[in-house]
Amino acid sequence: MNDIKLALLGSQGAGKSAVLVRFLTRRFIGEYASNANSLYHKRLSIDGRQLNLEVFDPCSQSSEARCILEEPVDWADGFVVVYNISDRSSFIDAKNILLQIREARMENCKGEVEVPVCLVGNKQDLCHARQVCEAEGRCLAQEHRCHFQEVSAAESYQDISALFTQLIRQVMEL
Ligand code: GDP
Repeated sequence: MNDIKLALLGSQGAGKSAVLVRFLTRRFIGEYASNANSLYHKRLSIDGRQLNLEVFDPCSQSSEARCILEEPVDWADGFVVVYNISDRSSFIDAKNILLQIREARMENCKGEVEVPVCLVGNKQDLCHARQVCEAEGRCLAQEHRCHFQEVSAAESYQDISALFTQLIRQVMEL
């Protein structure tokens, strides 16, 4: 049985909990109140392998990416960095988080190991209020050599399931 640890990062309100809850339960929970760091467990089977998945959803009361990065960066095998396509400041936060993941890994001498990351533009259903175009997300992901996906936790399970599966496969290949 493999243990896989993932962490969700992103500014408050980007939809991290909604994305995770959609993946874990297939449901959209509109208001998911969490005032504490949360660790979720799920048993999965991917490509015939049994996995113990742990996902850390830090409580992000502050938009300061630095403080939410302190704990999970050493712990996690992979990261899901979430921003809200209708909130430009969440995209700026995501940029900073990607930089900080890279820096923290280098400081810890893990720089040579490419840590799997997926950049996620959430709230695709709010495209009428879009502040970040898809190409910008794709470009940022290319810069950091990570996977990119726009999703709507409110409307769809398939894309979210696909991105977690793809990230878990990447971790398993390390
Ligand atoms: P977190 O602070 O990053 O964990 O964000 P939450 O998961 O608590 O979501 C913040 C707010 O955005 C909540 O009111 C959610 O209902 C809403 N939300 C999350 N995902 C979506 C989405 O895909 N579309 C829309 N329209 N709202 C969403």
